[in-house]
Amino acid sequence: MSPLPLTCSCHPPALGRRRLLALAGGAGGAVLMSRVRPATAAGAAKALLLSCIDYRLLDSVDSYMKQHGLEHAYDHTILAGAALGVLLDQKPDWAHTFWDHVDIAKQLHGIQEVIVIDHRDCGAFKVFLGPDSIKDPATETATHQRILRTFAAQLKARHPDLAAELYLMALDGSVLPIAA
Ligand SMILES: [Zn+2]
Repeated sequence: MSPLPLTCSCHPPALGRRRLLALAGGAGGAVLMSRVRPATAAGAAKALLLSCIDYRLLDSVDSYMKQHGLEHAYDHTILAGAALGVLLDQKPDWAHTFWDHVDIAKQLHGIQEVIVIDHRDCGAFKVFLGPDSIKDPATETATHQRILRTFAAQLKARHPDLAAELYLMALDGSVLPIAA
């Protein structure tokens, strides 16, 4: 295996290793640190949120978390399809990445629960399960219930100490809780 390049064509050479070391160790490091919002104390993040990549829902997801008192109190992992992204046989790397992030969120911030926000009209469901999986609202709700509950069962098996909160969000931002 070849060593990692210190610089590459996609980054300006000013951010080479020597420059990064100077920033980390010198006065520049203090400048960098001062730009970072003060971190919440370790152990203070209540939850890990899993949501979809869909740009249409990002603001609504953020608003929902704020409304529930979790502003700056949750870690966030994003996968296309949210819960579905963890269950795809076609994308085993996505599951590995997600479960690794649960581990590190527990280690770093002592999360107590995983919150999953699936959403309606999700393109990932169309791509991976077929358009018929969400062809009408009732079918769509049933499909998400099945996926979210399968996810919750896996979470319980891997992390019995973590609670699961499951939701299905509509494009207007309204949310349907799904019982695990
Ligand atoms: Zn989606």
